[in-house]
Amino acid sequence: MLEFTDKGIYCSRGNFYIDPWRKVDYAVITHAHSDHAYPGSRSYLSHEQSAEVLRLRLGKHIQLQTLAYDQPLFIGGVKISLHPAGHIIGSAQVRVEYKEEVWVVSGDYKTEEDGISTAFEAVPCHAFITESTFGLPIYDWQPQHIIFQQMNDWWKANKEDGKATFIGGYSLGKAQHILHNIDHRIGPVYVHQSIADTNRALAADGAVLPAYRTLTPETSRRELQDAFVLCPPALFNSSWIKNIEAYETGYCSGWMSLRNFRKRMNVNRGFVLSDHADWKGLNAAVRATGAERVFVTHGYAETLARSLREDGLDAEVVQTLYGGAGDDDHPALPGDTGEEQL
Ligand SMILES: [Zn+2]
Ligand SMILES: [Zn+2]
Repeated sequence: MLEFTDKGIYCSRGNFYIDPWRKVDYAVITHAHSDHAYPGSRSYLSHEQSAEVLRLRLGKHIQLQTLAYDQPLFIGGVKISLHPAGHIIGSAQVRVEYKEEVWVVSGDYKTEEDGISTAFEAVPCHAFITESTFGLPIYDWQPQHIIFQQMNDWWKANKEDGKATFIGGYSLGKAQHILHNIDHRIGPVYVHQSIADTNRALAADGAVLPAYRTLTPETSRRELQDAFVLCPPALFNSSWIKNIEAYETGYCSGWMSLRNFRKRMNVNRGFVLSDHADWKGLNAAVRATGAERVFVTHGYAETLARSLREDGLDAEVVQTLYGGAGDDDHPALPGDTGEEQL
C-alpha cells in the first residue's frame, strides 16, 4: 500500500506522501523536525499541535490541514489517522488503511513518557515502518527521572559554586522536555530566544509549559549566576558566553552515552536523555504492533532488521533521507553545531 520513492514514502492510491524530502502536492507530516518536514509542498496535513510550529518553520502561508489524534480522514478511499508517537509535542505516527489492510509509519518515537508529549501508543497493523536511530543493544536508557535528578543536582552544585548552568538542547523537543521536568524551585530558568519562539508556537496550539524567562542581550550576567539556561548548543561557541565569568555547560542526547560524542561536544556534562526509543523500546514497539512485515529505516536499520528476522518477522531495511541536523538525537549533529549568538 505504501512504497518507497525518491521523494519519500508514497501512497499511490491516495496520492500523498508521508514526510517527503522533496516538494510534492500533498505531504502528511509526522512532526516538525526539519528532516521530516520539508518546505515547498503544495499542501500539508499534520497533527493539530504541530500547526503553529510548522508555520514558524515552513512559512506562515503554507496550506495546512490538521487532525486530532485518532481522527480519521479519507483521501481517495484511503483512511488516514494520526496516533501519538511520544517523540515531541504534536508528533504522530501515521496509520493508513485500505480494504482492511493497515500500514503504520512511525516517524520518530520514544516509548517512555516524558510528561509533555502525548504518550506513545502501539497501533496494531500488518506492516510497520519504524525508525531505528538508536537501534543497537548498547543504547539502553536509564529512566528519565534519574537523569533529571542528576541534572537538578548538577544545577544545585553549580549554583553553590556561583556558576551559571547552561544546557544545550534543540529548540523543538528537547528544550520543552527539559523545561517541563527540571526543578524550577532551584532557581530561575531562562531560555534562548529561538526556544522562546518555538514555545510560543506550541502554546498557541495548546501546549502548557511552565513559566520561564527569556534570555536577551540585556540580561545581565549577574542575573544568570544561579540560573539554569536552556539554549542551542551553538551558543557554547559564542563570544557572548565566553564573557560570563563562571559557568558550566551540559548537553542532553542519547549520543552522550558514547565517549567520543561527549568529547566532540566539548561540554562539562553529558546527560543521556533522548527523545527516541532505545534498543529495548524499539523492539517492544515493533512487537506490540503485531506487524508481520517491518520496514526499518533512519538509523541502525541493519542491526534492528536482522534481530527482528531472527525472531521470525519479515523485516527489511529501506533507505530514506531522514536523520541529519533536524533533531539533536540524529547522528549528523553532535559536534557540528556552528556558532550562534544571542
Ligand atoms: Zn527523524
Ligand atoms: Zn524528530
